[in-house]
Amino acid sequence: MTTVLTRGTVTIDVEGCKGCELCIPACPPRVLTMSAEVNGLGFRYPQLHAGCTGCRACLDMCPDFVFEVYKYDTPVELEVEQ
Ligand code: SF4
Ligand code: SF4
Repeated sequence: MTTVLTRGTVTIDVEGCKGCELCIPACPPRVLTMSAEVNGLGFRYPQLHAGCTGCRACLDMCPDFVFEVYKYDTPVELEVEQ
């Protein structure tokens, strides 16, 4: 296990995603990856991992307004499998 400093989080409207993947490289700390599963429309969608900074780049990039972004008042350390 390792700890990852995490300054924010996002909600992801999975059913609103059309699987374009623009959000994946747009995330500076690269904490978004595409799912293996698909949504009701048949599209893969992003999943969040530890280390979000709350920077809003995903929100700004997504053409379908899938993200909401929240910045923590105090950063948290999340434990993740290495
Ligand atoms: S808010 Fe920033 S760091 Fe967090 S998932 Fe979106 S792009 Fe990545
Ligand atoms: S940018 Fe938006 S629509 Fe495209 S994959 Fe990411 S969440 Fe889905």
